[in-house]
Amino acid sequence: MKVVLDTNIWLSAIFWKGEAYKLINFILNKKIEIIITNNILSEIIEVLNKEVKFQKFIERYSKLTDLKEFEKAVTSLRLIAESKIQKIIPSMRSTIQASQIKDMEKMVKFAKKIGCKRVSFSSIHPAGKAIERKDLWMNKEQKLEFLKEVYRLKKIFPDINVTTNDPLKCLLRRENDLGKGGELVFDGCGAGAITFNVNSDGVMTPCALLNIPMMNVFPLTIKEITKKYQENQIVRDMLEMNLKGKCKDCLKKYQCGGCRARALIQKGDYLEEDPHCWL
Ligand code: SF4
Ligand code: SF4
Repeated sequence: MKVVLDTNIWLSAIFWKGEAYKLINFILNKKIEIIITNNILSEIIEVLNKEVKFQKFIERYSKLTDLKEFEKAVTSLRLIAESKIQKIIPSMRSTIQASQIKDMEKMVKFAKKIGCKRVSFSSIHPAGKAIERKDLWMNKEQKLEFLKEVYRLKKIFPDINVTTNDPLKCLLRRENDLGKGGELVFDGCGAGAITFNVNSDGVMTPCALLNIPMMNVFPLTIKEITKKYQENQIVRDMLEMNLKGKCKDCLKKYQCGGCRARALIQKGDYLEEDPHCWL
């Protein structure tokens, strides 16, 4: 008798002493012949190489304990870039205030220099400690200037992905508004509808900044969580985009949706219009 085991069984048996490991031992004890193809072997080698690179990165990272936080972050990014681990993208994220818009180009150059492949910018949200610091929030004009700068930098640095997750970007990106098949692309606020956040105490909120408890997932089974999620009013409102103010009838609402956290904090209702929208 001969058997062929797929890559997942081999990898599972290499990394864990679970069912796959027991299965291979069983087959070997019964003196059954195991066939392994070149493709399977190459896949196993590829994953093991990745694991070795990752372990090397972890070893080097664990020696950075004496560095200050900024140096540690920069050195870690450099190490990630040097490790060239497949599918792991060295990425820098900067949360900035209006006075730093003029420095965004320098930040992209710095990210490139240390080997990053992606730089994501966001403005300071009126959330957490920044709720009390209105001086740090951008106004509508500054938000427009900020997003224009993201798109200018995108153009002049085509070899690094300069991006932002601010939903208002859809007002500037124009030609990219449609997907490859001509469909409307949604990359606006997905809080509640397509993403959620779970705090360390198990409380689920639509996003880390939109702090409205939806449920505590700890005592629940996956089935119960799914049911509660489907029945949740925030999820329904976000899927249907039951927005208010100028967002209600906006033709862009299925691409943008505005930031619901800004609406909650600055307007007192997460369904209200996004106070940063300059439309
Ligand atoms: S009105 Fe609302 S949905 Fe429309 S673009 Fe502005 S923030 Fe987005
Ligand atoms: S609520 Fe604002 S911060 Fe949260 S996911 Fe939506 S756009 Fe992002």
